[in-house]
Amino acid sequence: MFGLMNDAPLLIADTLVHAARAHADQEIVTQTVEGPIHRYTWSDCHHRAQQLARALADLGLGFGDRVATIAWNTHRHLETYFATSGSGLVCHTINPRLHPEQVAYIVGHAEDRAILVDLTMLPLVQALAGKLPSVRHVVVMTDRAHMPDGVPAEFLCYEDLLAAQPADYDWPRFDERTASSLCYTSGTTGNPKGVLYSHRSTVLHSFAIALPGAFALGERVSLLPVVPMFHVNAWGTPYAAAITGTRLVMPGPRLDGDSLFKLMDSDGVTKSAGVPTVWLGLLQAMKMAGRAPAALEQVVIGGSAASRTMIEAFEGFGVDVLHAWGMTETSPLGTACMLKPGREADDKDARYATLVKQGRTVFGVQSKIVDPDGAALPHDGKAHGEVKVRGPWIASGYYRQPDDSAFDADGWFATADVATIDPDGYMQIVDRTKDLIKSGGEWISSIDLENAAVAHADIAQAAVIGIPDERWGERPLLIAVAAEGADPTREAVLVHLADHVAKWWLPEEVIFVDQLPLGATGKVQKTKLREQYARPAG
Ligand code: AMP
Repeated sequence: MFGLMNDAPLLIADTLVHAARAHADQEIVTQTVEGPIHRYTWSDCHHRAQQLARALADLGLGFGDRVATIAWNTHRHLETYFATSGSGLVCHTINPRLHPEQVAYIVGHAEDRAILVDLTMLPLVQALAGKLPSVRHVVVMTDRAHMPDGVPAEFLCYEDLLAAQPADYDWPRFDERTASSLCYTSGTTGNPKGVLYSHRSTVLHSFAIALPGAFALGERVSLLPVVPMFHVNAWGTPYAAAITGTRLVMPGPRLDGDSLFKLMDSDGVTKSAGVPTVWLGLLQAMKMAGRAPAALEQVVIGGSAASRTMIEAFEGFGVDVLHAWGMTETSPLGTACMLKPGREADDKDARYATLVKQGRTVFGVQSKIVDPDGAALPHDGKAHGEVKVRGPWIASGYYRQPDDSAFDADGWFATADVATIDPDGYMQIVDRTKDLIKSGGEWISSIDLENAAVAHADIAQAAVIGIPDERWGERPLLIAVAAEGADPTREAVLVHLADHVAKWWLPEEVIFVDQLPLGATGKVQKTKLREQYARPAG
């Protein structure tokens, strides 16, 4: 017997319609690509998304067509999110930091029919002229006055398109399982793989991240998503902001610590979300100012492990940290680290030992750790194995890539992350499967070593890789960036590490570099470091 409840589909357009009705005058602030600060409301956003949906239809784009965006976090990108998905198109967000050849590959693989591009990324699209055969339209996300000289005559101006349309579009109704957005993950090897989200997965994920145990959004929250809209839909924050009436402050292209500090400070930002590399910049700006941005209460840290040093630094300025874990394939939220009531009274070390964990699964996500044969391992905080997850916002396959061993028939997705899970359910990522170091038959966690290294006051960033070793198989190598003005020695670092890790974990060597190679999503590229430093033994 079925329940007698309305079967209304969960559709992305409804999140915006709700924001425009229930939170009409809530503000959305943008640091524009052109320079000035732009301000409007959720109601304005809805009207302009309606105009854009009409304009895209007039360009001949139809249900299911992929529309690419190459853009920063701005009000125009936000409108594009809702206009595309809301009208049945698929919003394909492209990471501009990818190699141009990879961009051409994914545009071709997705068969994007149109590209909406920010001014700063226009040269990338122009450089790919002739290599994007599926693309019929390029829309430059600016107004007529800022259209650069020399752009091809067929490139369209975003504001011209909108100005030509009334704002009375009726959002279509369709199956909630319809594809809504597409994001390629750079993955580890081979070509990027497409993760294809649905309206249903997106709306359910929005509910989940808005909850108190997760990002705790709402109309009293002023959220600055530093995490780009081209990376896992800015962790789903635009949709979750719409359903909760959260105030949004969009940083545009200015993601350096000083710019973030100023925008947060002047615009009353209470919460922000991003990867650790971004927070290093903000913390530097906070140290210079001797304070946190005026209203900042919490930062969400994800994408790479949050170290105790970083968490303590934020707390020292009165800013809470929420450590979270997820992947492009998981929409992304899988776990979030909140202290259970029992753990709030823990002493300092025990408290931080919890906070550096990636946390417990949010409702909707199931997880387990398994051994190489796929057998489930105990949740004792000691056994470590590959993390598998499943749930309504976890991918069930990659776009146009039918046979992938990462997905099994029971709906489990193999993450390639290795973790422990403690009896309270707190997951701690030990490593990526490929980054774990196997030395003398035992495992060394590169993340643990990196966290121990950055606990040294003179070290700003650290990466640990395994180097081949005849006797032990592999040994750890530490590659570090010194803190500003500091000049740490190899010996001092090793003495410091000896206080934090087992003797046999101590790196064979410490190499100081000016900077670590960062990938398109702000993570350290260990593949590059391995190419450079991990030569075969002998
Ligand atoms: P992406 O799909 O680019 O978002 O990358 C997902 C990967 O980032 C995960 O599989 C993890 O390896 C890593 N990751 C994400 N969040 C964390 C975290 N809090 N701690 C450690 N690694 C993380």
